[in-house]
Amino acid sequence: MTDLTAHYDVVCIGGAMTGTAAAYFLSENPDFDGSVLVVEPDWTYDFANTTRAQNSIRAQFTNEVNIALSTFGMDFIDDFHHHVEVNGESPELNFRGTGYLFLADTDELYDQLERESVDQLARGADVEMLRPGQVAERFPYMDADRLTGARLGGMREGSFDGWALFQGLRQRAVHNGVTYVKDRVVGLDVLRSRVTTVRLESGRSVGCGVAIDAAGCRARQIAVMAGLDLPVEPRARTSFVFACREPIESVVPLTITPAGVHFRREQHHFMCGTVPRDDVAIDPDDFDVRHDEFEDQIWPVVSTYVPRFDQIRLVTSWGGQYDYNTLDHNLIIGPSSQVENLLFANGFSGHGLQQGPAVGRGLSELITYGEYRTIDLTPLGYGRIERNEPIVEHAII
Ligand SMILES: Cc1cc2nc3c(=O)[nH]c(=O)nc-3n(C[C@H](O)[C@H](O)[C@H](O)COP(=O)(O)OP(=O)(O)OC[C@H]3O[C@@H](n4cnc5c(N)ncnc54)[C@H](O)[C@@H]3O)c2cc1C
Repeated sequence: MTDLTAHYDVVCIGGAMTGTAAAYFLSENPDFDGSVLVVEPDWTYDFANTTRAQNSIRAQFTNEVNIALSTFGMDFIDDFHHHVEVNGESPELNFRGTGYLFLADTDELYDQLERESVDQLARGADVEMLRPGQVAERFPYMDADRLTGARLGGMREGSFDGWALFQGLRQRAVHNGVTYVKDRVVGLDVLRSRVTTVRLESGRSVGCGVAIDAAGCRARQIAVMAGLDLPVEPRARTSFVFACREPIESVVPLTITPAGVHFRREQHHFMCGTVPRDDVAIDPDDFDVRHDEFEDQIWPVVSTYVPRFDQIRLVTSWGGQYDYNTLDHNLIIGPSSQVENLLFANGFSGHGLQQGPAVGRGLSELITYGEYRTIDLTPLGYGRIERNEPIVEHAII
């Protein structure tokens, strides 16, 4: 059993991407000299969505804060070894820059993608609009006759090893003195609008200066322990990997069809997924694969745009969950007005891996300086939940 002291300046509830990114950035911040405890029950991380993701990053959002969050993720990936090395070593991130390709099959959708691209370019994202002839030229395996055009992102968008990203942060955080304990948070004591004590399943209790809710799909359970509500619920998202008989020689970007089916290359195979037709809250222990989705929703669509996907074989699949923010499908970060030292970092709705570094840095700034110093994350605060004012992001995949 880890020997715990009775008080930590910061307690992270959940130690996957978000909790670990917060711990990492606090421990790297020269102005923060406090102690950090990460409480995580599952040290295999098998049921953390961090290990069930599709591991990709893009600049093509429509909200400027989301673009900024992911752009910092790209910067972090660019210099990953330097950020996380311990004794000269770091995990291999194996980043593959392919871009994301958003397809349009109507003039309206093409116009919308083009309008969004103006803002994206203004925010520093590298995007270009393609007409069907250009799509056919760049991606000859695609049936461009089906399209009115597409929007293609630059080579800083792509895929990487998500486990390596997480492990690099974790190893460096531990090296920097962060304590990880294998336990589960079962209660919070709140006195005069502050969490004073975090109670653990083992029966131990830890006093805290600040608590961070990094419990992913179980974030609402943590909020309830402090007498709060959080509009975050688990939603099923299945990943499928298939093999195609006829090889594709050219680059295959992470492609998003107008129906919301997405696919990309993964080594010699292809990875894909979609939104279930019946997209409802599920039990947080439900990691079942929704097998029918592949036959009913995915295969008919991908084979329409890529005719050789008519001849494919399913290789594997796994169940996962989005920590889905039912108000506006975006991150909720920071405290509520009722409990000032419980910081949320939840509701990513499918983009928490790429936003992890920027969110960890933002939490470190908020705790250390009482304000955001780099990206202003105030628009993503809990206040919008209290005011019932959703922020707008059109590019949720
Ligand atoms: C199919 C799929 C594809 C995805 N693709 C991408 C992608 O391409 N790019 C991207 O950026 N994002 C993607 N995501 C989203 C990304 O995986 C998540 O947003 C991110 O991993 C969230 O990390 P987290 O640490 O907040 O939550 P999680 O990884 O879910 O971790 C939460 C942790 O909290 C712990 N916990 C729970 N309850 C307690 C408790 N009471 N006490 C202590 N600990 C507790 C759990 O054990 C768990 O380890 C995808 C997700 C899915 C499901």
